[in-house]
Parts: sequence; C-alpha cells; structure tokens
Amino acid sequence: MSNDKQMGFATRAIHDGQAADPQTGAVNVPLYLSSTFEFEEIGVNKGYEYSRLGNPTRTALESCLASLESGRTAHVFGSGMAAIAALCTMMKTGDHVVCGENVYGGTIRLFDKILTGYGIEFTYVDTGDAENVARALRPNTKLVHIETPTNPMMTVTDIRAVADVCHAKGVDVSVDNTFMSPYFQRPLELGADIVMHSTTKFLNGHSDGLGGVLICNREDLADRFRYVQKSTGGILSPFECWLLLRGVKTLALRMRQHDANGRAVAEFLAGHKQVQQVNYPGLKNHPQHALAARQMSGFGSMMSMELGTRERANEFLRSVKLCTLAESLGGVETLVSHPATMTHLDMAREARERLGVTDGLVRISVGLEDTDDLLADLNQALECLKSS
Ligand SMILES: *Cc1c(COP(=O)(O)O)cnc(C)c1O
Repeated sequence: MSNDKQMGFATRAIHDGQAADPQTGAVNVPLYLSSTFEFEEIGVNKGYEYSRLGNPTRTALESCLASLESGRTAHVFGSGMAAIAALCTMMKTGDHVVCGENVYGGTIRLFDKILTGYGIEFTYVDTGDAENVARALRPNTKLVHIETPTNPMMTVTDIRAVADVCHAKGVDVSVDNTFMSPYFQRPLELGADIVMHSTTKFLNGHSDGLGGVLICNREDLADRFRYVQKSTGGILSPFECWLLLRGVKTLALRMRQHDANGRAVAEFLAGHKQVQQVNYPGLKNHPQHALAARQMSGFGSMMSMELGTRERANEFLRSVKLCTLAESLGGVETLVSHPATMTHLDMAREARERLGVTDGLVRISVGLEDTDDLLADLNQALECLKSS
C-alpha cells in the first residue's frame, strides 16, 4: 500500500501483514503447516527455511502486531510467560531489574523462583510514583518492568515519567500492556523500549489460544528477540498464529464494546449498596483518573470490587449465572474471579493485603454480552448478599 498517511487502527488490524495470497488470491492468510521449506539451490530459498526460525503465518501476525503497537518488529512466543522469559534473556548474572510490586503473579514467580538462581537481582517498587523507580535504580540495573493498569487493583503508572527517569540512567523499560491492548494504550509512543503482551487475553479475545509477544523499535533488541526465538524455540505455533490473526481483525470493535460495557458495569457497581469499593480507572474517584485519561484512550473492561469478606465474595461468585467464575480475562465472555485464592494465591497474606488484594475482593473481566443482561446478572448476585 503506497499511502503517506498511516491508515487507522481498525484498518491496520484487518490488513497489515495480510495481503491476499499471491498464489491463490485467498483473502485470509493461509495456515502454513510446514515445518520446513524448499531451497532452490545452496543458499537460495523464498525467505523461509525452517518454522522455528520463521513461518509465513507467523510473519503475517508479527507484522500486524508490530503495526498496532507502533513498533517496527514483533516476535511471538508460545505464551505470555514465554515472552517474558525471552525478554529476560537480555539479562546476565549480576544484572539488576526493577519491577512493579503488583505485576502479574507468574512474572514474580519467574523472577523470584527461577531467575534469582542465575544471579539476577530484583527489586519491587510501587511504580505508580516514578520517584520510587528513580530511587531503586542501581549502576547494574538493566531493565525496569512495569504493568499498567495493575491486576487487580487497577493502579496506573505514568509510562512517560518512568521512561524519562530510566533513560536518564541508560536503563530500558518494558511494559506489560495486556490489560489495555494497543487499541487503548501504546507504550512505545510514550517512551517505553519494549511492549509485552499475553496475547491470550484481549488480542486473541476469544479465550481459545495462548500466546505472547515482544514488540520494539530498536534493531539491537529485535535482533536479540529473533535470536531467542531461534535458539530457545518457544515460538507460537502456526495454528495459534492464525487464530490470533483472526481475533485481532476485530480488536478495535471489541475494545470499543469492552470499554462501553466496562464503564456501565463500573458505574452500576459503584452505586450498589452491597459494594464497598470499585477499582476502575474510568471512575472519577479513581486516584489516578486524570493520568489514566491522559495516557489511555479508553478505560477498558478490567475492574475489581470489594465485597468485605471471603464469605460475601463466595456468595456472590456462587450466585452469578451469566458471568463465569474462572481465571483469565479479555475474552468475549464475562469472567469473575477471586484474586486472593486464584491469581494471587502464591503471595503471602500480608503482602497481598498491603496491595489491597483482600479476601473480599472480586475481579471482573467484562465481556461483550448485552449490557442489560450483565447488569441484571450482577444485580441478582449482589442482592443475594443482603442477608449475609
Ligand atoms: C495472563 C497474563 C500473563 C501471562 O500470560 P500467559 O499467556 O498466561 O502465559 C502476563 N501478564 C498479564 C498481565 C497477564 O494477564
């Protein structure tokens, strides 16, 4: 396409990397189930040799995802955790990493239980204040890894402020952008060096495939991630790439409806007598509402609410009929979960409660059902708490 002006997000989600197949005219990128590719003679092939190194379905997906995050390259892996593990191969023994204290539990498990064994050090801070990050930097700090908004308290970090503090000391910044998707937040545009996603969530959007991605603008980082794909092999299979491409085509449409439903549900819950607190950056009383409104172009559909006790949380979770009690997020269906016993089970009670992850906290990933049906289900489940 020879256009000077960049096309819009929805257009790029549908078309970038996905030209009609030159051989057959197929409108969709075919699923290339081939482990190996023919050479015409020594050193001459059509750009592919072996599917761990590259596969045409994966190439299409990677160029589309890079475009959506305003990056130059994307590298996909078998899961979000595999992408973070690949990111960590930037580190050597003796390096130091500063990480948000409330990032995805699996990230902290990888850092503390596996990577410390290789002599890499980690410091956890509340990245909601960039000063905390500045104070934690050391001469051997290599990377600052943040997640915004956080799970499940929805605390927002100022990506540009953190990037400024880090770049002044030559430290790279990676952002886990899983909760917002590139439709609402593009960290590379705000100064981050690397964007990471669990594509399992909003990018796939249909709860039917795992995946992870690293996106960047720098050639040195891109070379590294390509080399890690080739050398450690944790790549995304062609079939999962194909599913993800299919999901991403409707990302813009889905995110707009996730956001509309998210706002409606948050406001409904905030006004309900049985709910003590709602954590959602789109609510005016969220402590970082102004920053969220500046940094993101929507508020998405992730939120949590405080119901007071474990018994009341359980009563609510048992009473929902349309919403499903399950881990994960970002799919078309509304999922409710209990962070204290699910995503944050590994955490010591004291640390967990300091973050606000109490026994009475319920997380909601608002899906794409009709808003009225969702509100009716949440209402009937909350009404069940009257007696408890
Ligand atoms: C799910 C998730 C991950 C891990 O991704 P997997 O695809 O499950 O490996 C990382 N970060 C965030 C924010 C997540 O929600």
